[in-house]
Amino acid sequence: MGLSIFFKRSFIKSIALFMIVLAFFTWSVVWGLAQNTAPGGIITGKVMAVFFVDVGQADCIFIHTPNNLNMLIDAGNREDYPQINRFLQAQNVTRLDVVVATHPHEDHIGSMEEIIRNFQIGKLYMPKVSTATRTFEGLLQAIRIKGLKVNVAKAGVKIDLGPGFTSEFIAPNNDDYDDLNNYSGVIKVSYHKVALLLTGDAERISEQEMLDKGYDLKADVLKVGHHGSNSSSSAAFLKQVAPSIAIISVGVDNPYHHPGLSTLKRLARSGARIYRTDRDGTIRLLTDGDKIEIRNYRY
Ligand SMILES: [Zn+2]
Repeated sequence: MGLSIFFKRSFIKSIALFMIVLAFFTWSVVWGLAQNTAPGGIITGKVMAVFFVDVGQADCIFIHTPNNLNMLIDAGNREDYPQINRFLQAQNVTRLDVVVATHPHEDHIGSMEEIIRNFQIGKLYMPKVSTATRTFEGLLQAIRIKGLKVNVAKAGVKIDLGPGFTSEFIAPNNDDYDDLNNYSGVIKVSYHKVALLLTGDAERISEQEMLDKGYDLKADVLKVGHHGSNSSSSAAFLKQVAPSIAIISVGVDNPYHHPGLSTLKRLARSGARIYRTDRDGTIRLLTDGDKIEIRNYRY
């Protein structure tokens, strides 16, 4: 009899333990989904997909529209080409209808030469500035060989992404800066009610110019400027953008100590949920122009 009580107790303990584990599992799944879905709900209808590809301390953004247009904004570092290529192959991409090189720093145009050589390219946009690096020279040569026209990326230039979209450069607003970062082509892409602001490495000077020009900066999603550096994302700029989602493209243990602590604090104060490629890997955002779904993405 003593033995059977022992077994009963042990059985009850096992059941209790099982229930606790089940409760924890359910809680973590629900909590996990809540973390990944913003502002909430399931997206329906025609979907735009935006990928913030993890290329370490660099930028690479890919957009696929419901009209089957492909847009690439920046192309990581030079050594990132195999990874970017693998990503594009996984999306069955052979043609990039719109390609933007936000500015000619290595961590934005590193693999652009290979991209130009290996993919069909539609319209190419670059700011009107040059730099004396092998990477930039290589890119110019690939553009020449392919016979591509370079469209100047500057405030006011519109990008046609088809029905439901408004897409426009809102920077650079000047043609002479000390720092190449401020030449960054900043793009505001709106798909129905959802807006994205993709800022390249634009810093405070460019942010102030966008504010002074009176652009409607409000965006649901902000690609945080210059890898989250403290030299970008001023309080005045963030106040106008008022993003609900902030995405930082940044490398693990990078030598620049990006993202900056004060930028992270300002973003947190703005109420944005922060995603980072160094922690989350490649980030995929889906939107039907109303709701947004965001989660990390493996390919
Ligand atoms: Zn950069």
